[in-house]
Amino acid sequence: MNPNSRYPLIDGHAHLNELKDLQRDLKDAKDAGVRAIVGIGMDLESNRGILDIAADNPGFVFPAIGYHPWEIRNPEIETTLAFIEKNIDSCVAIGEVGLDYKARVKKALQKEVFQEIIQLSALYRKILILHCRYSHQRVFSMITIGGVEKAVFHWYTGTLDLLQEIIAAGYYISATPALLYSPPHQQAIKEAPLERILLETDCPVSYQGRESRPSDVRITLREVARIKGLSLEEVALITTQNAIELYELPDLQLS
Ligand SMILES: [Zn+2]
Repeated sequence: MNPNSRYPLIDGHAHLNELKDLQRDLKDAKDAGVRAIVGIGMDLESNRGILDIAADNPGFVFPAIGYHPWEIRNPEIETTLAFIEKNIDSCVAIGEVGLDYKARVKKALQKEVFQEIIQLSALYRKILILHCRYSHQRVFSMITIGGVEKAVFHWYTGTLDLLQEIIAAGYYISATPALLYSPPHQQAIKEAPLERILLETDCPVSYQGRESRPSDVRITLREVARIKGLSLEEVALITTQNAIELYELPDLQLS
């Protein structure tokens, strides 16, 4: 048995609808000590998929639905936003959303859609799970001006100056297995207080040539512990508690 398996973990960001063998991966995650998974949607189809997977796995998979900047396409925008609003009460967060200035979708259109999502977040007081690429500062300005109370800067690789502002504003950042090799991600995780860090996999993203699964949140745990010079136990306990509090997850009986 893996020595990490006794630590209760939460994978806070998993594209479960993209996994090739979902049942096997969910079982392996449970065996590895994963107590809950936040399933992430990106567009109409994956949002539906994540809601179905969550309905099939009550108390284990918790859905977040969103509109990823890569997926924004003109005829579908209103339908997708309406779908998010209609299903918002059954979700723990809105995500994955944000801005990606390397994506082909025009910046103006991305901002327009993101602004509507920010309004939903403020109106329904829902957490935003944020994707930012070459856009951290802009995303931060938009959500603070827009009155977003709670947000997670997923896989944070922005500047350390902005990180201080993110922390001061009460927001979170999340850590992925990219800690194995990404200096900007490592520096951010080193700098951020453990109380504001969540663990995730962003599965099925490939890290160092290997496709990830929810059980790989153990890699994220190990890397955060190594970078911060803390025990696996302490990192697991605090980050799992962070996720339970932020997403208002039911009592997962951590002891
Ligand atoms: Zn993602």
